[in-house]
Amino acid sequence: MLEELGSLSKKELIKRAKKFSKRYYVGDGKKFKLKDYASKPKMNLGPEDELLVKEALEIGVEALAALQDILYAQDRWSLLVIFQAMDAAGKDGAIKHVMSGINPQGCQVSSFKVPSQEELDHDFLWRCQKHLPERGRIGIFNRSYYEEVLVVRVHETILNAQKLPSKLVTKDIWEDRFKDIRNFEKYLARNGTVVIKIFLNVSKDEQKKRFIERVDDPDKNWKFSVGDVKERGHWDQYMEAYEDMIQNTSTEESPWYVIPADNKSYARIAVASAIIHALDQMELEYPKVSKEKIEELQGVKKALLEEKNEK
Ligand code: AMP
Ligand code: MG
Repeated sequence: MLEELGSLSKKELIKRAKKFSKRYYVGDGKKFKLKDYASKPKMNLGPEDELLVKEALEIGVEALAALQDILYAQDRWSLLVIFQAMDAAGKDGAIKHVMSGINPQGCQVSSFKVPSQEELDHDFLWRCQKHLPERGRIGIFNRSYYEEVLVVRVHETILNAQKLPSKLVTKDIWEDRFKDIRNFEKYLARNGTVVIKIFLNVSKDEQKKRFIERVDDPDKNWKFSVGDVKERGHWDQYMEAYEDMIQNTSTEESPWYVIPADNKSYARIAVASAIIHALDQMELEYPKVSKEKIEELQGVKKALLEEKNEK
């Protein structure tokens, strides 16, 4: 499959990207089981495939940039791509590589860390709402309001620090949050913002390997904190929380993609494919120019050419 990419037309490439992304598309999540989705890519990629994979990503990035150009020109839709994952799954790298061909004017990345005091003084969607992409743009969330049903669910102490009126903190809180998120995403869809969610599914073994690299490589030390190892200790609780979250928040309109993340290059191609799929569904087109406007443009061109002839 990969060998042929170099000579593909854009239309064919988009068709293939859509087909490829379908492997990881969850759609309606009601029956979702995490065990059905691997951390390792389905195809075996050896070192000899490295060039092909690199080329595939380059072509994917190019197709993505072409679609984004139309999204920006049309100025009607916007796309929000949410990334969630365990530490060291490759969120930062995927964002950097997949968006590398994109016009920076049409794209914005927001990262969500531990909430500030000001943020805790508001409802949980507040801080994310402020960063939603404008029409014509792609917004990337590196973590998001989904942390509210992940890290907050795994650690009761975080929930207790949220200053919610105690009457509202019941056993139904996670169900309530899922409902709020579904409604919020539905509201965005109705207003022209398409939301897709990407879970980079890294295995516990691969995470260990990457943590050790972060300790061994001085240039990567900054990326590592002792807290990351502590979170690793809650692995199974996190996986349960992810599964429940995807079951409850994946819809056809606002799907999750569960992407194998043990091979970084492969994961990036899968991410690019998912974004291409989402953009293609918008049926984007450049704004149509009126007959009068075309005539006016032709008139300007003629005048410019005549000006040149005068010299
Ligand atoms: P990183 O993205 O690795 O720099 O880490 C950011 C940290 O912020 C992660 O450990 C997240 O779990 C944490 N975080 C993000 N959002 C929230 C939230 N709403 N409540 C608590 N912790 C959060
Ligand atoms: Mg981290």
